[in-house]
Amino acid sequence: MKILITGAAGFIGAALCERLLEEGVHVVGVDNLNPYYPLALKSHRLTRLEALAGKPNQSEMTGSFRFVKMDLTERDALMQLMQDERFDVVVNLAAQAGVRHSISQPHDYVDSNLVGFVNLLEACRAARPRHLLYASSSSVYGDDARQPLTEEQAGAKPLSLYAATKRANELMAYSYAHLYGLPVTGLRFFTVYGARGRPDMAPLRFARKLMAGEAIDVYNHGQMARDFTHISDIVEGIRCLIDLPPPREVDAAPSRVLNVGRGEPIALRDFISGLEDALGLKARKRWLPMQAGDVERTWADTTALEALSGFRPHVSLRDGLAELADWARAYPELLAEESTDAAIPDPVHRPI
Ligand code: NAD
Repeated sequence: MKILITGAAGFIGAALCERLLEEGVHVVGVDNLNPYYPLALKSHRLTRLEALAGKPNQSEMTGSFRFVKMDLTERDALMQLMQDERFDVVVNLAAQAGVRHSISQPHDYVDSNLVGFVNLLEACRAARPRHLLYASSSSVYGDDARQPLTEEQAGAKPLSLYAATKRANELMAYSYAHLYGLPVTGLRFFTVYGARGRPDMAPLRFARKLMAGEAIDVYNHGQMARDFTHISDIVEGIRCLIDLPPPREVDAAPSRVLNVGRGEPIALRDFISGLEDALGLKARKRWLPMQAGDVERTWADTTALEALSGFRPHVSLRDGLAELADWARAYPELLAEESTDAAIPDPVHRPI
């Protein structure tokens, strides 16, 4: 099996590549290596992939990994890559992520999440992979959907441009499924955490501040809950879907959207105290009002994914936080949110 993973240097993309390489799959990873957060972390993830590629696994199978630095907005280059490689499956994890950044830098979201995504759809239309899976987000539900969140609640009221682009991706993918019979599955991920995670997100930000003895900012005075989901459960969920047959034509299009989350809302206060325990540190907290664009609670109904694939998340909060804490202690320099990349060699020039 030959798979294209976009966003391969990102948190979820790199973790999925690792999982596939361990199985002996041939993976091509695309990423534009944007500096939204420090490239040192993306470089760290790619170095791990480089080390894994070519190593035989227990069944003596050897996966391969080829990294291609490319922006999804480079329409012709993307089309060429898809024509040359003829992937069986494409998993689109490249996107400009982050709710708050979408308020200050809206055009980044239009470029990567809308223009980039339509380029990918066009390339898939021409090259016809068996299945296109793409990242959506729990943020599409907004704040007035019934909890737990079920997929048919369409998400007509996104609270940020980020959420709007993710919902737009679902509609765009549906139209390609309808018009061209392209089998598509949208993955609504719920707040992902774990080792090599995103330093702009609360779990790593909290870990960094705790370790530096700085106060942590807790929004909505801690009255928030998230369906925190460990990265290995997210990767396992995607992995199950890659193996399954793609969606069949239902309602005139081979298209579906699935929640991929743990299925249990965790109060922010409990997440923080779990992290304190895992790191053996006590946090000073700054209680702040709700931030624009945020939702109060997310809680995934995961019945559809389980019915389809039999997959159930299994990583407890305690184990997930222990894994995050071990990694954070080993690589404190990779928790930085701000780029200091001038001092870091450009990973593009390293053999990957
Ligand atoms: P990430 O920022 O770590 O990874 C995304 C990667 O895509 C980055 O390495 C970036 O350089 C790359 N990229 C961005 N724009 C690109 C473009 N135009 N061309 C090529 N590469 C580009 O984010 P992540 O947490 O790994 O998220 C992966 C996907 O899952 C994203 O679509 C995100 O919106 C979605 N998602 C993530 C979470 C989460 O909790 N992490 C939750 C919901 C949805």
